[in-house]
Amino acid sequence: MSADLTELYQQVILDHNRRPRNRGRLPTANRVAHGDNPSCGDQCDVFLRLDGDRIAEISFDGSGCAISQASASLMTTQLKGKTAAEAETLYQEFHDIVTTGKEPAEISDVAAFAGVHAFPARIKCATLGWHAALNALKADATTATTESHTD
Ligand code: ZN
Repeated sequence: MSADLTELYQQVILDHNRRPRNRGRLPTANRVAHGDNPSCGDQCDVFLRLDGDRIAEISFDGSGCAISQASASLMTTQLKGKTAAEAETLYQEFHDIVTTGKEPAEISDVAAFAGVHAFPARIKCATLGWHAALNALKADATTATTESHTD
């Protein structure tokens, strides 16, 4: 990666931290899941409104390190409008990027997280929001509540 691209990718992560996308509770959500990364202290709730099999709306709320919050913000922009199957594919691509450092063929905001692979402890930070989103897609609304989460 050229120095210019490294700078660009850092700016992507900083930008998502400063101006998180789709942040806050989603009043119309019919799926909710909580993500917890105790090794870093990151928390992330993901709110989805599923319309059939498609993610009509998605938001997150949470606290934690810059990587976790920027990744959750980016995740919402990636998954909005996608089907559950498409979301799973996008997660696999993101997981490959953060675990191997392999960059996608096209320059995209997702590639900003390729550098995470050099810091294995941060991979959980980068995937936290995605895990929560996939859990929200799999669980039904009655069991996906986060209100009983105590730790
Ligand atoms: Zn973290």
